[in-house]
Amino acid sequence: MPDATVMEKLVSLCKRRGFIYPGSEIYGGLNGTWDYGPLGVELLRNVKNAWWHDNVTSRDDIVGLDAAILMNRTVWQASGHESNFTDPLVDCKTCKSRFRADQIAESQCPKKPSKHPGEFNECQLTEARKFNLMFKTFVGPVEENAQMVYLRPETAQGIFVNFKNVCDSTRIKVPFGIAQIGKAFRNEITPKQFIFRSREFEQMEIEFFCKPETSEEWYRKWRDERFAWYQELGLKGANLRLREHSSEELSHYSRGTSDVEYNFPWGWGELEGIAHRGDYDLKQHMQFSGKDLSYFDDETKERFVPHVIEPSAGATRSVLAFLCEAYAEEQVEGEMRTVMRFHPRLAPVKAAVFPLVKKDGMPEKATALYKDLKRNFNVFYDEKGAVGRRYRRQDEAGTPFCITIDGQTNEDQTVTIRERDSMKQDRMALDRVKSYLMEKLGA
Ligand code: ATP
Repeated sequence: MPDATVMEKLVSLCKRRGFIYPGSEIYGGLNGTWDYGPLGVELLRNVKNAWWHDNVTSRDDIVGLDAAILMNRTVWQASGHESNFTDPLVDCKTCKSRFRADQIAESQCPKKPSKHPGEFNECQLTEARKFNLMFKTFVGPVEENAQMVYLRPETAQGIFVNFKNVCDSTRIKVPFGIAQIGKAFRNEITPKQFIFRSREFEQMEIEFFCKPETSEEWYRKWRDERFAWYQELGLKGANLRLREHSSEELSHYSRGTSDVEYNFPWGWGELEGIAHRGDYDLKQHMQFSGKDLSYFDDETKERFVPHVIEPSAGATRSVLAFLCEAYAEEQVEGEMRTVMRFHPRLAPVKAAVFPLVKKDGMPEKATALYKDLKRNFNVFYDEKGAVGRRYRRQDEAGTPFCITIDGQTNEDQTVTIRERDSMKQDRMALDRVKSYLMEKLGA
């Protein structure tokens, strides 16, 4: 199957089944924005919850934060974003299209038959100029320069500016981290590849503060831990890699950066960057704010500016990787079945409950089970159509288990439980279903 087809099929399944819709669709859309439907919002939330659980609540050296999206403009001057957060932009004077100068080789001229920009005789590409990716807006009723603020292009700066607050208001000691999940906005020149590069997206970031002499060790630990996290959630084998940046690729302040990359249907793309940022960010904020952001170690009586390891992940971009990895088509009894093989922790719906037919007390029994399971899991009830079709619908949603109440249930209090990937059906005592799901779903 050509890879472009996989993406087309996935985008279409996402729309049809309510994972992801184009933003503002009934008004013709807004490029680079996407809306998460009933299944998509659960999937995205499960990714964020898994990250928060594994990196914050299950650890004792990381605390959470939720900072404002709008921040004082000086934050972005201190961080370097106002002067450096740019992409090189090229315009075509003929077709009025815009391209990233560093991506001409992968871009297409809108003229047919499509070639790369600059390859038709009529193409008139301008010199590349710097285009800042931050969105601007105004605080208060007057649209003047002094009131201008940016929508944050990353969540990280909200963490740095609260470093002192967190130290002063908790008993946490270096080494420790601050974690945040939230929206980020970038006015990407060419949003593309579905939700991979959008203008509004979500990030999951940690700033981990440590003693300078331990920073190399923490960098290696984080790099390995973050890579393992994606593997545990199902991105296995040859489709996942950890790529260490070469010295030419590193930012001037970074002593090491690794990217976790996924092999999307169009090629490798970054899911997360893990960077050793030294003391660059805290020092910049000390300089611009005039506030002392150094740390005093009670035990050694030393004062120092901590070094920082930053694992910076895209929540929405990871959702795309999990969708791509889960998507499978297979022949079953002469019919094509589409199944989303999500890891049980990520599956939007954990189990579906069906009465085999709408009579003989089956709907009542099924509804009672459904209501009981719903107290612990996101479960779905369906009594419409042939049971085979109901299974297929749940396969497309990625539901790990389907439980059917049938004629035998009345006789011996057992139900059928069907597993999504193997399609194996087992009979099980009705009163065992909940504990079975708890065990299988790790709830
Ligand atoms: P890229 O090179 O792909 O533009 P980046 O290196 O600029 O990404 P970072 O600034 O390191 O990205 O952001 C951290 C993470 O945020 C990325 O690894 C990615 O998962 C996510 N991310 C960044 N830009 C976008 C975007 N436009 N849409 C969706 N996710 C994004």
